[in-house]
Amino acid sequence: MYGGAKAVFYALSRSSFLKRLASRYGMAGGASFARRFIAGETIEDAIAAAKRLEAQGLLLTLDYLGESVETLDEAVAATREYVRLMDLIVASGIERNISLKLTQLGIDVDRATCVDNLRRILEPAGRHGFYVRIDMEHSRYTAMTLEIFETLWAQQYRKLGVALQAYLFRTEQDVRRLNALGAQVRLVKGAYKEPPSIAYKQKADVDAAFLRLARLLLDEGTSPAIATHDERLIDAVRAYVDQRRIGRDQFEFQMLYGIRRDLQASLVAAGYRMRVYVPFGREWFPYFMRRLGERPANLGFVVRALLRER
Ligand SMILES: Cc1cc2nc3c(=O)[nH]c(=O)nc-3n(C[C@H](O)[C@H](O)[C@H](O)COP(=O)(O)OP(=O)(O)OC[C@H]3O[C@@H](n4cnc5c(N)ncnc54)[C@H](O)[C@@H]3O)c2cc1C
Repeated sequence: MYGGAKAVFYALSRSSFLKRLASRYGMAGGASFARRFIAGETIEDAIAAAKRLEAQGLLLTLDYLGESVETLDEAVAATREYVRLMDLIVASGIERNISLKLTQLGIDVDRATCVDNLRRILEPAGRHGFYVRIDMEHSRYTAMTLEIFETLWAQQYRKLGVALQAYLFRTEQDVRRLNALGAQVRLVKGAYKEPPSIAYKQKADVDAAFLRLARLLLDEGTSPAIATHDERLIDAVRAYVDQRRIGRDQFEFQMLYGIRRDLQASLVAAGYRMRVYVPFGREWFPYFMRRLGERPANLGFVVRALLRER
């Protein structure tokens, strides 16, 4: 069921008919269904959401949605949008932290141009003291993403981190290598459809790998981010850091916008660093479908919202 629901929603996420339908209804009004998970379509919407989160003691990272761009023009447009976003973040006074995807910067079109685009973002990011996190996408990009990250790291880009996915068999080796570099990792379970030859398929196996890797990051890594809404795993991490006397400033929890807001608030109240990933932009459909696939019960919420709106 775990993999099955994900696979169905993954297939649906590629449907252009559904995308048109969702674009029409999903973000139309203030209470539209996609707004639960996406901060809005504009940078201004995202900054307003970020300010509300900061007022609650939450940290944040802003993600300009978009992925799998097919032309260099689109990749350059996304790069410009990130640069504009950083200017507006600086002007707004919110925390300077962004997340991005290499397929949005054109890795599918031309790897060298993608790296150039990333540098175009890192240059003003460095000047303004931004932290930049590279999301991890489908396994066809894992090696490339890590090569690019490690090259830039070697070139002294130090306010740069990357995400690693616990469901991939290779990740333990990647964690050990990045720990040795002193690089910062965001650990996630993994959100894409992967074959059993390279990834755990059962939830219990993914969870066990996540906890094993989280401990490795907490013991030997640098400021790791433990990114999950899984309360059992969060409790296990809390117990582990207590037992090992790891300070609360040595790591952070991360969750997605709109998911387990109760748990986000209780972690802040308990004195943990808790960062919320705030996605925004017009290209929200694939992101939204991944969130539905993780928890098919969300579909009921969407259908109820649609019935109310129409
Ligand atoms: C900050 C952050 C960044 C991420 N970056 C990446 C990335 O770069 N690459 C990548 O592949 N994946 C990324 N992910 C997604 C991740 O891989 C998982 O798909 C996602 O976090 C769901 O897994 P989970 O750890 O919450 O555990 P699950 O076992 O899926 O869920 C545990 C519990 O969390 C709650 N929950 C989980 N998902 C939802 C939802 N959609 N709606 C409502 N409740 C939910 C439910 O209560 C559920 O029982 C990121 C996740 C976070 C939090």
